[in-house]
Amino acid sequence: MSKNFLKKTIIKNMRYLVKTKMNLGSEGNISIKFKNGFLIPKSGLNPCDMKIDDIVFIESNGHFSKSLKPSTEWQMHHNIYKERTEVSAVVHCHSMWASILSCLRINIPAFHYMVSEMGGIDIKCSKYATFGTLKLAKKVVLALKERNACLISNHGQVTIGYNIEQATHLAFALEKLAKQFYFCLLSNKNKLLSKKEITESLKLFSGYKSTH
Ligand SMILES: [Zn+2]
Repeated sequence: MSKNFLKKTIIKNMRYLVKTKMNLGSEGNISIKFKNGFLIPKSGLNPCDMKIDDIVFIESNGHFSKSLKPSTEWQMHHNIYKERTEVSAVVHCHSMWASILSCLRINIPAFHYMVSEMGGIDIKCSKYATFGTLKLAKKVVLALKERNACLISNHGQVTIGYNIEQATHLAFALEKLAKQFYFCLLSNKNKLLSKKEITESLKLFSGYKSTH
């Protein structure tokens, strides 16, 4: 796919996240792998005003054009691509329910079999670090270990995928699970799946193939 096509895809998906209230204004960011690096929007832009020239290319060694300041979380995206070579797209949101759970700093356990869609028997919440730092980037990579999604403490969520469609889908799926789990927490009567039950579900989801 051409560089311009991928830039347009980023803008289209960033606008979609604002339209669907997954992000507000310039919150969050999306990146897509390209050649030996990845493409990501400039810092602090509202997706409605984004143009093709506002998407920055960052090389695999972290270098980018001095004239274009990338999104504050570019190091998070950079570290994910470095550690997870199978990943082609990263979606980061400050969506309502995922952010609420992230402020509780708790992992989402196997309360629903769809938790396994995120690649593991639970969904981790990364340890807290200041936004835009390398420290946060490292903590997020740890929380994503053997997973396609995680919460980010007192911040939001991040999802990864083989392509942008998958990473975006998982962002919405995680938001839905976060909302469901929040109400389960309130009721205090939630019954969790056993390790055997969630592992069976996980096997069916392996290879990212869902027939549900
Ligand atoms: Zn953020």
